[in-house]
Amino acid sequence: TPYIAISSIRKGYRLGAEAIPIFSDLDLSIPRGDFVAVMGPSGSGKSTLLNMLAGIDGPDAGTLRIGTSRLDQMGESARSSWRAHNMGIVFQFYNLLPMLTAAENVELPLLLKPLSRKDRRNRVEKVLDLVGLAGREKQYPAMMSGGEQQRVGIARAIVSDPGLLLCDEPTGDLDRKSADEVLGMLRFLNQEMEKTIVMVTHDPQAALYANRTLHLDKGNFHEEKRAA
Ligand code: ADP
Ligand code: ADP
Repeated sequence: TPYIAISSIRKGYRLGAEAIPIFSDLDLSIPRGDFVAVMGPSGSGKSTLLNMLAGIDGPDAGTLRIGTSRLDQMGESARSSWRAHNMGIVFQFYNLLPMLTAAENVELPLLLKPLSRKDRRNRVEKVLDLVGLAGREKQYPAMMSGGEQQRVGIARAIVSDPGLLLCDEPTGDLDRKSADEVLGMLRFLNQEMEKTIVMVTHDPQAALYANRTLHLDKGNFHEEKRAA
Protein backbone atom coordinates (compact mmCIF):
# COMPACT_ATOMS: atom_id res chain seq x y z
CA THR A 1 0.00 0.00 0.00
CA PRO A 2 1.29 3.47 -0.85
CA TYR A 3 2.56 5.82 1.84
CA ILE A 4 0.29 8.64 0.66
CA ALA A 5 -3.10 7.78 -0.80
CA ILE A 6 -5.33 10.50 -2.18
CA SER A 7 -8.54 9.15 -3.52
CA SER A 8 -11.58 10.84 -5.05
CA ILE A 9 -10.79 14.12 -3.36
CA ARG A 10 -13.07 17.05 -3.90
CA LYS A 11 -11.91 20.48 -2.80
CA GLY A 12 -13.06 23.99 -3.54
CA TYR A 13 -13.30 27.43 -2.03
CA ARG A 14 -16.21 29.65 -1.32
CA LEU A 15 -15.85 33.29 -2.27
CA GLY A 16 -19.00 35.03 -1.06
CA ALA A 17 -21.84 33.36 -2.92
CA GLU A 18 -19.51 31.89 -5.52
CA ALA A 19 -18.16 28.34 -5.31
CA ILE A 20 -14.70 27.88 -6.85
CA PRO A 21 -13.99 24.20 -7.53
CA ILE A 22 -10.29 23.24 -7.55
CA PHE A 23 -10.43 19.43 -7.50
CA SER A 24 -13.53 17.41 -8.27
CA ASP A 25 -12.08 13.89 -8.32
CA LEU A 26 -8.39 13.81 -7.54
CA ASP A 27 -6.44 10.57 -7.17
CA LEU A 28 -2.77 10.10 -6.38
CA SER A 29 -0.57 7.41 -4.85
CA ILE A 30 2.90 8.12 -3.56
CA PRO A 31 4.99 5.16 -2.41
CA ARG A 32 7.34 5.56 0.54
CA GLY A 33 10.71 6.82 -0.64
CA ASP A 34 9.46 8.81 -3.65
CA PHE A 35 10.76 12.28 -4.45
CA VAL A 36 7.91 13.90 -6.34
CA ALA A 37 8.02 17.26 -8.11
CA VAL A 38 4.65 18.92 -8.63
CA MET A 39 4.53 21.55 -11.35
CA GLY A 40 1.66 23.41 -12.92
CA PRO A 41 0.41 26.85 -13.86
CA SER A 42 -0.43 29.42 -11.23
CA GLY A 43 -3.90 28.75 -9.86
CA SER A 44 -3.83 25.04 -10.74
CA GLY A 45 -4.08 24.04 -7.08
CA LYS A 46 -0.49 23.29 -6.05
CA SER A 47 -0.77 25.19 -2.78
CA THR A 48 -4.18 23.69 -2.14
CA LEU A 49 -2.66 20.23 -2.52
CA LEU A 50 0.29 21.01 -0.20
CA ASN A 51 -2.06 22.49 2.38
CA MET A 52 -4.10 19.29 2.40
CA LEU A 53 -0.98 17.08 2.64
CA ALA A 54 0.24 19.28 5.51
CA GLY A 55 -3.09 18.97 7.27
CA ILE A 56 -3.49 22.75 7.18
CA ASP A 57 -6.72 22.39 5.22
CA GLY A 58 -9.03 19.39 4.85
CA PRO A 59 -10.63 18.02 1.68
CA ASP A 60 -14.38 18.58 1.17
CA ALA A 61 -14.85 14.89 0.32
CA GLY A 62 -12.75 11.83 -0.44
CA THR A 63 -9.96 10.00 1.31
CA LEU A 64 -6.57 11.36 2.32
CA ARG A 65 -4.34 8.87 4.08
CA ILE A 66 -0.69 9.36 5.01
CA GLY A 67 0.92 6.32 6.60
CA THR A 68 -1.80 4.96 8.84
CA SER A 69 -3.41 8.35 9.45
CA ARG A 70 -6.70 9.33 7.84
CA LEU A 71 -6.32 13.09 7.60
CA ASP A 72 -9.76 13.47 6.05
CA GLN A 73 -11.32 12.12 9.25
CA MET A 74 -9.43 14.44 11.58
CA GLY A 75 -10.53 17.79 12.89
CA GLU A 76 -8.35 20.83 12.70
CA SER A 77 -6.59 20.39 16.04
CA ALA A 78 -5.87 16.70 15.44
CA ARG A 79 -4.43 17.62 12.05
CA SER A 80 -2.20 20.29 13.49
CA SER A 81 -0.73 18.02 16.15
CA TRP A 82 -0.37 15.30 13.52
CA ARG A 83 1.56 17.79 11.38
CA ALA A 84 3.91 18.72 14.21
CA HIS A 85 4.89 15.09 14.72
CA ASN A 86 4.91 13.63 11.24
CA MET A 87 6.30 16.03 8.70
CA GLY A 88 8.69 18.83 7.98
CA ILE A 89 7.87 21.77 5.73
CA VAL A 90 10.38 23.78 3.70
CA PHE A 91 9.16 27.21 2.55
CA GLN A 92 10.09 29.47 -0.36
CA PHE A 93 11.01 32.37 1.93
CA TYR A 94 12.46 30.10 4.67
CA ASN A 95 10.07 31.32 7.41
CA LEU A 96 12.87 31.69 9.94
CA LEU A 97 12.28 33.86 12.99
CA PRO A 98 14.68 36.80 12.65
CA MET A 99 15.20 37.32 16.38
CA LEU A 100 16.33 33.73 16.90
CA THR A 101 19.73 32.28 15.98
CA ALA A 102 20.11 29.45 13.46
CA ALA A 103 20.28 26.92 16.32
CA GLU A 104 17.23 28.38 18.07
CA ASN A 105 15.22 28.31 14.82
CA VAL A 106 16.12 24.67 14.25
CA GLU A 107 15.31 23.81 17.88
CA LEU A 108 11.72 25.12 17.67
CA PRO A 109 10.00 21.87 16.56
CA LEU A 110 11.77 19.99 19.37
CA LEU A 111 10.22 22.17 22.06
CA LEU A 112 7.01 20.15 21.53
CA LYS A 113 8.81 16.97 22.51
CA PRO A 114 9.72 15.57 25.90
CA LEU A 115 13.45 16.02 25.41
CA SER A 116 16.06 17.39 27.75
CA ARG A 117 17.86 20.59 26.84
CA LYS A 118 20.99 18.57 26.23
CA ASP A 119 19.24 16.13 23.88
CA ARG A 120 17.71 19.05 21.98
CA ARG A 121 21.12 20.70 21.62
CA ASN A 122 22.69 17.47 20.38
CA ARG A 123 20.02 16.98 17.76
CA VAL A 124 20.24 20.57 16.59
CA GLU A 125 23.99 20.29 16.26
CA LYS A 126 23.69 17.06 14.33
CA VAL A 127 21.26 18.41 11.72
CA LEU A 128 23.11 21.71 11.31
CA ASP A 129 26.21 19.64 10.66
CA LEU A 130 24.27 17.54 8.14
CA VAL A 131 23.28 20.63 6.13
CA GLY A 132 26.83 21.97 6.18
CA LEU A 133 26.32 24.70 8.77
CA ALA A 134 28.45 23.37 11.63
CA GLY A 135 29.83 26.29 13.62
CA ARG A 136 27.11 28.70 12.47
CA GLU A 137 24.78 27.93 15.41
CA LYS A 138 24.86 31.41 16.89
CA GLN A 139 24.36 33.37 13.68
CA TYR A 140 21.13 35.19 12.98
CA PRO A 141 19.28 34.64 9.69
CA ALA A 142 20.06 38.20 8.54
CA MET A 143 23.77 37.34 8.60
CA MET A 144 23.28 34.42 6.22
CA SER A 145 22.85 34.12 2.46
CA GLY A 146 19.56 32.90 1.03
CA GLY A 147 21.02 29.45 0.41
CA GLU A 148 22.28 29.25 4.00
CA GLN A 149 18.93 30.38 5.36
CA GLN A 150 17.21 27.69 3.32
CA ARG A 151 19.62 25.11 4.73
CA VAL A 152 18.59 26.25 8.21
CA GLY A 153 15.00 25.78 7.03
CA ILE A 154 15.82 22.24 5.91
CA ALA A 155 17.54 21.51 9.23
CA ARG A 156 14.44 22.68 11.08
CA ALA A 157 12.26 20.51 8.82
CA ILE A 158 14.22 17.33 9.59
CA VAL A 159 15.18 17.88 13.23
CA SER A 160 12.22 15.81 14.49
CA ASP A 161 13.10 13.08 12.00
CA PRO A 162 9.78 13.03 10.10
CA GLY A 163 9.22 10.54 7.27
CA LEU A 164 7.73 13.18 5.00
CA LEU A 165 9.08 16.50 3.74
CA LEU A 166 6.82 18.98 1.97
CA CYS A 167 8.64 21.67 0.03
CA ASP A 168 6.90 24.76 -1.32
CA GLU A 169 9.09 26.36 -4.01
CA PRO A 170 12.23 25.65 -1.97
CA THR A 171 14.48 27.27 -4.60
CA GLY A 172 12.09 30.00 -5.73
CA ASP A 173 14.15 32.75 -4.12
CA LEU A 174 17.66 31.36 -4.73
CA ASP A 175 20.32 31.81 -7.40
CA ARG A 176 21.19 28.75 -9.49
CA LYS A 177 24.20 27.71 -7.44
CA SER A 178 22.44 27.91 -4.07
CA ALA A 179 19.39 26.26 -5.62
CA ASP A 180 21.48 23.30 -6.77
CA GLU A 181 23.04 22.97 -3.30
CA VAL A 182 19.62 22.93 -1.68
CA LEU A 183 18.31 20.44 -4.25
CA GLY A 184 21.34 18.20 -3.78
CA MET A 185 20.60 18.22 -0.08
CA LEU A 186 16.98 17.23 -0.67
CA ARG A 187 18.15 14.41 -2.93
CA PHE A 188 20.52 13.24 -0.20
CA LEU A 189 17.72 13.27 2.36
CA ASN A 190 15.58 11.27 -0.06
CA GLN A 191 18.19 8.72 -1.09
CA GLU A 192 20.24 8.30 2.07
CA MET A 193 17.81 9.18 4.85
CA GLU A 194 14.64 7.68 3.41
CA LYS A 195 12.59 10.86 3.43
CA THR A 196 9.60 10.88 1.13
CA ILE A 197 9.49 14.31 -0.52
CA VAL A 198 6.72 16.23 -2.25
CA MET A 199 8.08 19.43 -3.77
CA VAL A 200 6.04 22.11 -5.52
CA THR A 201 8.24 24.00 -7.97
CA HIS A 202 8.22 26.27 -11.01
CA ASP A 203 11.84 25.40 -11.71
CA PRO A 204 12.32 22.71 -14.41
CA GLN A 205 15.89 22.19 -13.14
CA ALA A 206 14.56 21.44 -9.67
CA ALA A 207 12.23 18.80 -11.08
CA LEU A 208 15.27 16.94 -12.44
CA TYR A 209 16.31 16.09 -8.88
CA ALA A 210 13.02 14.33 -8.26
CA ASN A 211 12.32 10.78 -9.40
CA ARG A 212 8.83 11.70 -10.61
CA THR A 213 7.28 14.85 -12.02
CA LEU A 214 3.55 15.47 -11.90
CA HIS A 215 1.95 18.30 -13.83
CA LEU A 216 -1.16 19.62 -12.20
CA ASP A 217 -3.62 21.11 -14.66
CA LYS A 218 -7.39 21.55 -14.73
CA GLY A 219 -7.86 19.57 -11.55
CA ASN A 220 -5.82 16.53 -12.52
CA PHE A 221 -2.29 15.16 -12.45
CA HIS A 222 -0.43 14.28 -15.60
CA GLU A 223 2.64 12.17 -14.96
CA GLU A 224 5.71 13.16 -16.97
CA LYS A 225 7.25 10.26 -18.84
CA ARG A 226 10.91 9.72 -18.07
CA ALA A 227 13.54 8.16 -20.25
CA ALA A 228 14.67 4.94 -18.56
P1 ADP B 1 1.01 30.20 -4.81
O1 ADP B 1 1.47 28.87 -4.33
O2 ADP B 1 -0.27 30.65 -4.23
O3 ADP B 1 1.07 30.30 -6.30
P2 ADP B 1 3.58 31.36 -4.56
O4 ADP B 1 4.23 32.13 -3.48
O5 ADP B 1 4.12 30.05 -4.94
O6 ADP B 1 2.05 31.23 -4.20
O7 ADP B 1 3.54 32.26 -5.87
C1 ADP B 1 2.87 33.51 -5.92
C2 ADP B 1 2.79 33.87 -7.38
O8 ADP B 1 4.09 33.97 -7.97
C3 ADP B 1 2.06 32.84 -8.20
O9 ADP B 1 1.31 33.47 -9.19
C4 ADP B 1 3.15 31.99 -8.79
O10 ADP B 1 2.74 31.40 -10.00
C5 ADP B 1 4.26 32.99 -8.98
N1 ADP B 1 5.58 32.39 -8.80
C6 ADP B 1 6.15 32.05 -7.63
N2 ADP B 1 7.36 31.55 -7.81
C7 ADP B 1 7.58 31.56 -9.14
C8 ADP B 1 8.66 31.17 -9.97
N3 ADP B 1 9.79 30.65 -9.47
N4 ADP B 1 8.54 31.31 -11.28
C9 ADP B 1 7.41 31.81 -11.81
N5 ADP B 1 6.35 32.21 -11.08
C10 ADP B 1 6.45 32.09 -9.77
P1 ADP C 1 -1.34 27.35 -7.13
O1 ADP C 1 -0.62 27.08 -5.87
O2 ADP C 1 -1.17 26.26 -8.15
O3 ADP C 1 -1.05 28.69 -7.69
P2 ADP C 1 -3.64 27.53 -5.41
O4 ADP C 1 -3.86 26.22 -4.79
O5 ADP C 1 -2.97 28.59 -4.62
O6 ADP C 1 -2.91 27.31 -6.80
O7 ADP C 1 -5.01 28.13 -5.89
C1 ADP C 1 -5.93 27.45 -6.73
C2 ADP C 1 -7.13 28.35 -6.94
O8 ADP C 1 -7.86 28.47 -5.72
C3 ADP C 1 -6.76 29.74 -7.39
O9 ADP C 1 -7.71 30.15 -8.35
C4 ADP C 1 -6.92 30.56 -6.12
O10 ADP C 1 -7.28 31.88 -6.42
C5 ADP C 1 -8.02 29.82 -5.36
N1 ADP C 1 -7.86 29.92 -3.90
C6 ADP C 1 -6.81 29.49 -3.21
N2 ADP C 1 -6.98 29.68 -1.89
C7 ADP C 1 -8.20 30.27 -1.76
C8 ADP C 1 -8.98 30.73 -0.65
N3 ADP C 1 -8.53 30.60 0.61
N4 ADP C 1 -10.18 31.28 -0.90
C9 ADP C 1 -10.63 31.39 -2.15
N5 ADP C 1 -9.97 30.97 -3.24
C10 ADP C 1 -8.77 30.42 -3.06
